[in-house]
Amino acid sequence: MENDGLNVSEKSRIREAVVDAGLRLTGPRLAIFRILLEEGLHPSAEDVYRLLAPELPSLSRDTVYRTLATFEEAGLVRKFPSGEGVFRYDARMVPHHHFICSRCLKIVDVSMSETGSVRIPESLRSLGVVETVRMEFQGICLSCQSGGKDSGALSPRIPKPHQGENR
Ligand SMILES: [Zn+2]
Ligand SMILES: [Zn+2]
Repeated sequence: MENDGLNVSEKSRIREAVVDAGLRLTGPRLAIFRILLEEGLHPSAEDVYRLLAPELPSLSRDTVYRTLATFEEAGLVRKFPSGEGVFRYDARMVPHHHFICSRCLKIVDVSMSETGSVRIPESLRSLGVVETVRMEFQGICLSCQSGGKDSGALSPRIPKPHQGENR
């Protein structure tokens, strides 16, 4: 890998987020947060470990799990159950929807502004107050449609860290 996949502003954003959350910024935390921010990844703890192992051989699985738990407690990441029966992590805390490819399990962010407002069913009033609506669009991604084999969310490709703001 040529660099750590981050531009300067992204790096300082991570640093700020971690420090603001009252956490000490360590190498592993920076690396793990960077993986969490990658477009379309939404990795599981195991994915994070596997993706970082080549570049950080000293990183233990235990550290990854503990770091993710710390991030979650600090409100830096959100974890959500995936169809595979594991939790996946999302570091984009701006509310957004997801498109999930049911073949390669890639999860891509969809901005809320693209869906417009959603009508909240009346019946929900008896359950509580809705604060955020997150939708899950499921389908087959383009690369899976074209028979792409390596379209898995976990291919080691490092997407450009920057692709639009504020999703
Ligand atoms: Zn796919
Ligand atoms: Zn997301």
